Amino acid sequence: AKARGRNRLCFFEPAIQDALMRRSRLENDLREAIDREEFVPFFQPQVDDEGTLVGAEVLVRWIHPKAGLIGPGEFVPLAEETGLIGAMGRQMLECTCALIKKWEAEGIGGSLALAVNVSAAQFRDPLFVKQVLDLLSHYGVDPGRLKLELTESLVIDDIQGSIRTMNRLKAEGLGFSMDDFGTGYSSLSQLKRLPLDQLKIDRSFVEDVTSDPNDAVIVRTIIAMSRSLGLDVLAEGVETPEQRAFLVANGCQAFQGFLFSPPVDARTFEDMLGGPVTF
Ligand code: C2E
Ligand code: CA
Ligand code: CA
Ligand code: CA
Repeated sequence: AKARGRNRLCFFEPAIQDALMRRSRLENDLREAIDREEFVPFFQPQVDDEGTLVGAEVLVRWIHPKAGLIGPGEFVPLAEETGLIGAMGRQMLECTCALIKKWEAEGIGGSLALAVNVSAAQFRDPLFVKQVLDLLSHYGVDPGRLKLELTESLVIDDIQGSIRTMNRLKAEGLGFSMDDFGTGYSSLSQLKRLPLDQLKIDRSFVEDVTSDPNDAVIVRTIIAMSRSLGLDVLAEGVETPEQRAFLVANGCQAFQGFLFSPPVDARTFEDMLGGPVTF
């Protein structure tokens, strides 16, 4: 019993205690952030092979009252563990719909589609479909303006259920993109059953595409695969003109990455929508 007591003490070593406290503080802050609507959407432009803006990915940022701007790497995993991701994701969808509506009223943005990340817990919520459709109709937004980004693991974990949910939204006009494609384990036969519109080539393959022959083969294969499945293909994390040139030469149609623009706040993105910019 004594030895166990000592082990217990070890558990409360200062470093661990610090980490636990930081975590529980973050969890509390996260709860309050949802009530105070501290989550804001940033937008990362997506362009075609001529550098014309064709869409944007919506990426969440947390405007923390004390810590300032916090990226999703620091809170999305915790939001997923604590079940707060549903509420956060809903706020992202709502902000996005509200902005599309606002831009439409100002005559900017045309018919550009916005791609919103959806996490597993959010997607599996039986109320998800209704939630999305209610938001679209409340803001009077054309469902074709929204594209939902799903990951392979999310879809493969429950392929039947995923196809059903996707089909219901697809029937209303929403689009679907397979995020981080190539990093999961979906097979070609599973892939062709999914009502997808786009594959997004993961950044990890784009990174060394001009120097690593394996990555070059993978990227070519994904582009060919998307073509044979009748899907659009977008390369993520494009940082150099050489990467872009390789991708263009191999038939990739859409691009996203720091070479064109980092994720920007709504005001900055509005300026891009307003003026004729090429990237
Ligand atoms: P992701 O969906 O793969 O998003 C792309 C990430 O790559 C973004 O990081 C973006 O800023 C970054 N990125 C874009 N271009 C480049 C580039 O050229 N080079 C490099 N090195 N990075 C680039 P971010 O915004 O920190 O988001 C990280 C992840 O957090 C996202 O990965 C996504 O999984 C998740 N996330 C972001 N927003 C949301 C959201 O609203 N809901 C959910 N569920 N997850 C989100
Ligand atoms: Ca994404
Ligand atoms: Ca991605
Ligand atoms: Ca690599």
